[in-house]
Amino acid sequence: MTEAPSYGFDTLQIHAGARPDPATGARQTPIYQTTSYVFRDADHAAALFNLQEVGYIYSRLTNPTVAVLQERLATLEGGVGAVCCSSGHAAQIMALFPLMAPGCNVVASTRLYGGTVTQFSQTIKRFGWSAKFVDTDDLDAVRDAIDENTRAVFCESIANPGGYVTDIRAIADVADAAGLPLIVDNTTATPYLCNPIAQGATLVVHSTTKYLTGNGTVTGGVVIDSGNFDWSASDKFPSLSAPEPAYHGLKFHETFGSLAFTFHGIAIGLRDLGMTMNPQAAHYTLMGIETLSLRMQRHCENAMKVASWLEQDARVDYVTYAGLPSSPYYERAQACYPKGTSGLFTFAVKGGYDACIKLVDALEIFSHVANLGDTRSLIIHSASTTHRQLTPEQQEAAGAGPNVVRISIGIEDADDLIADLDQALSKACG
Ligand SMILES: *Cc1c(COP(=O)(O)O)cnc(C)c1O
Repeated sequence: MTEAPSYGFDTLQIHAGARPDPATGARQTPIYQTTSYVFRDADHAAALFNLQEVGYIYSRLTNPTVAVLQERLATLEGGVGAVCCSSGHAAQIMALFPLMAPGCNVVASTRLYGGTVTQFSQTIKRFGWSAKFVDTDDLDAVRDAIDENTRAVFCESIANPGGYVTDIRAIADVADAAGLPLIVDNTTATPYLCNPIAQGATLVVHSTTKYLTGNGTVTGGVVIDSGNFDWSASDKFPSLSAPEPAYHGLKFHETFGSLAFTFHGIAIGLRDLGMTMNPQAAHYTLMGIETLSLRMQRHCENAMKVASWLEQDARVDYVTYAGLPSSPYYERAQACYPKGTSGLFTFAVKGGYDACIKLVDALEIFSHVANLGDTRSLIIHSASTTHRQLTPEQQEAAGAGPNVVRISIGIEDADDLIADLDQALSKACG
């Protein structure tokens, strides 16, 4: 099927990128479990290796099952192209890689997934890159943090785990004025609840491990390019605008236009970093995406019910869910995320650290795991797990203090989830 922009989200989540298999007519996208593809002849092989013709060479670069997922995600996000990767963290490196060089920095929100804070504050230093963390609600702070070595601004749409919702348009305007791309991690919102590109983002990254796959089976990530950024407008992005020695001096932006970032991601990024998604993972994620809108509606509905119940419970200090009128982000959520604010939030237990640990152990339906966005309801005590490597200040800034638990509300019966929390809170708070 060719993607007409007039198709609705529910149609595109099932059909975009897919067509009956040309060899067999198979209606479901086959898992092309192959590492290589036979060249028609030597000229064909040479043209593929020169990037003069698009086709399959080797599955570290491209694979037909993964390609369907890439096209589907690019379509759902309103981008021109996408590169799938082995995990969400791989996708973040793949997004930054063409932009950065030793000495360059990314201006990033303080409110990020804990693993991203660690990746940005520690590991990327080994590449000579750095991150400057700022409160992205403070637009002047974002502006002030940008310097001549900044190459990107990075935030999450609905920030994991604190229930913060980001005004992407406002941050995109700041990045635009500085001639920089804005990268938005849209994992928690998914393209069903938020289209960062429509609000000015240049690149969108996802951990497809979470809501997109939705069933806790495979890790994966993706970088989606809006195709809107002029990589040649300054000399800040030579990987995309200047001659590439590894391709006989080819200039990606000049040659591939709006697809420059995507081609670079495959031809340089996957070729040399090798953070490739495998076709099995792409299959599970494609299966998940077929029901994305239905699941997200239920995740949002259930999260509202559970958050409202928790908020009125005497054993709970506060709940940070942007769908609640008590949230400082309520107005912004209504304006920027009208379909809902996903299924992820935190709440503070009056008994503090010890009560949180007991609560997590006493729950029966909720699983204690380091994951989110599953059909199953999940819980984690961030301060003793995912956010353990952070300083107390970083934990607080990320909304993951010692008295706080994060829950990812699944698509079970909301009444059962509430009953489970009720019995576990009784045990935890004695
Ligand atoms: C999980 C997650 C990541 C990292 O993704 P992996 O697939 O676990 O590598 C990045 N950002 C957010 C918001 C996440 O929830």
